[in-house]
Amino acid sequence: MKSGPDRAGYFGEFGGRFVPETVMPALLELERAYKQVIRDPEFRKQYEYYLSEYCGRPSPLYFAERMTADLGGARIYLKREDLNHTGAHKINNCIGQALLARKMGKKRIIAETGAGQHGVATATAAALFGQDCVVYMGVEDTVRQALNVFRMKMLGARVVPVDSGSKTLKDAINEAMRDWVTNIRTTHYLLGSVLGPHPYPVMVRDFQKIIGKEARRQVLSKEGKLPDLLIACVGGGSNAIGLFTAFLNDKKVDMVGVEAGGTGRKLGNHAARFSGGSLGVLQGTRTYVLHDRNGQIAPTHSVSAGLDYAAIGPEHSYLRSIDRVSYTSVGDKAALDAFYYLSRTEGIVPALESAHAIAYVRRVAPRMSRRQTIIVNLSGRGDKDVMAVAALDENGA
Ligand SMILES: *Cc1c(COP(=O)(O)O)cnc(C)c1O
Repeated sequence: MKSGPDRAGYFGEFGGRFVPETVMPALLELERAYKQVIRDPEFRKQYEYYLSEYCGRPSPLYFAERMTADLGGARIYLKREDLNHTGAHKINNCIGQALLARKMGKKRIIAETGAGQHGVATATAAALFGQDCVVYMGVEDTVRQALNVFRMKMLGARVVPVDSGSKTLKDAINEAMRDWVTNIRTTHYLLGSVLGPHPYPVMVRDFQKIIGKEARRQVLSKEGKLPDLLIACVGGGSNAIGLFTAFLNDKKVDMVGVEAGGTGRKLGNHAARFSGGSLGVLQGTRTYVLHDRNGQIAPTHSVSAGLDYAAIGPEHSYLRSIDRVSYTSVGDKAALDAFYYLSRTEGIVPALESAHAIAYVRRVAPRMSRRQTIIVNLSGRGDKDVMAVAALDENGA
């Protein structure tokens, strides 16, 4: 199948470029530069060099022996993105975009961050390449994620607390956009997931598809055949797209994206865009969005900050519309159980985001045959979540 998007940045009816006129020149310049480097063998070589020498790729495809035996069904493999430098898949994209910025002669990097994970990965890449780094973060989030604020500063980034609106991620994005338009000549806006206006969804996908490229090779060498099922959690959707892309033409490989079910189906209590959302435009892209009755962006909730967002990447909306990928959701409670389960069964503490994918594996693996295989993307490690989980435990959760 064609993985898209078309020239205007549409995956089917999703995606596009819904931005004020002032932002267009920046996006067009970025699109030109990205199209050039993605075909440039020299750029590829640099990107792959840093991914292997600096980030530690390829990440292992680990056979989860005890989990497989315990669940008694399909053979389960974990794609260990948690073992990357900085502890998650986000660094793959940050290395790619920071290198692209260097190539474009831009010495200043700006980014938005919610929980701070993308901010930390961006600050890391900027330090690596000697770039100035400014990270916009809602005031609310700087308080909730004080440790990541400290980390970003330690890495030499300036963190700008955003005091407008709801003082969270979407306000930080607006502020970053404003900065970009003002400083376009010197500045690259390093967006963190397969979201935003074209070319971000396709560019971030291309910098994450290394995950599936490796996994496909690894599973063929270990099992001698393709997997039956791929599973990944979906916030904006970059780790999922990163795993899925290399398998999209393999018709027999099923794929499931797992959204955050939060504490229940009521609007405001979850971030399951496909079960509670409708088509709309958020942050420059047309996709499934959680709206309230007046068409305003609805508040969202998830125990994992990385899945807690009102919009999903447009390519996911497309893959769902053509029935190539199916989507489900897992609630806070099941994710927390899975957090402990993987820790105690395999000695691997997963990020709460990744724990959503693990929770879904626990649901489906027992129903599959022992000859079948699953690859689950372990998008990140759980060190960042240990304090939050401990606090929940104290409150009797
Ligand atoms: C940010 C994050 C996610 C969610 O982002 P995607 O773009 O959907 O991948 C998932 N897992 C971890 C560990 C993260 O840090």
